[in-house]
Amino acid sequence: MGNLRVTVWNEWRHERQDPAVAALYPDGIHGAIAGALREHSPDGVVVRCATLEEPEHGLTAELLDATDVLVWWGHLAHDEVSDEVAERVQEHVLRGMGFVSLHAAALSKPTRRLLGTGCTFLWREANDRELLWTIAPSHPIARGVSPVTVIPRHEMYGEPFDIPEPDEVVFISAFSGGEVFRSGCCYRRGAGRVFLFSPGHETDPIYTQPEIRLILANAVEWAAGDRLLRPPPSLQHAPSGWFEPGAAAG
Ligand code: ZN
Repeated sequence: MGNLRVTVWNEWRHERQDPAVAALYPDGIHGAIAGALREHSPDGVVVRCATLEEPEHGLTAELLDATDVLVWWGHLAHDEVSDEVAERVQEHVLRGMGFVSLHAAALSKPTRRLLGTGCTFLWREANDRELLWTIAPSHPIARGVSPVTVIPRHEMYGEPFDIPEPDEVVFISAFSGGEVFRSGCCYRRGAGRVFLFSPGHETDPIYTQPEIRLILANAVEWAAGDRLLRPPPSLQHAPSGWFEPGAAAG
């Protein structure tokens, strides 16, 4: 991953309200995700965490300026994220920052702003088994990932998923209840890359599962794109005189 700078954002509510979630994620969901990224790139990634209740939710302009990929986990407190910070995230993505939106973060302010739709879906908290099918095996996010990953127990997310047509769908999930879901979707927004990945319900130990941790690391690397190699685009007035209507060609 080179010297990739990743910020993992988590609202950090479930872990402090529900002892069962705290037992699964003693360092917070953000801590588990950060651990997965470090595990897969021990030398080349700098991971920082930010949470909802910090000033500006921890997402100052300075931090985002120094972030190549922002990973977002939120569920209970989407409305508590300020519009100002959501807009700041959107602007940074348009200028090239990668954005990985996990689980219920599909409904977060930054994701909805970036996709422009409601991003709603069917859901059911039961004891469904999820089969995560890799349908784009040559995609970088699928590198080293099995054709099918079994999540023994997970919340069901089902279609219809109110998202724009993705640029690429890497994973589709099937649930024991019969539902299906586009569980790994890629988008380009401005100069930035966005990946939606649905696994990650807080009462199931999804982010401790090795296959899922690999997908998270791959997703962050993909979302970074060639960010380290190019300057961000900006609004520029084009010089005149490059094209003269009526000038003879050839
Ligand atoms: Zn959930």
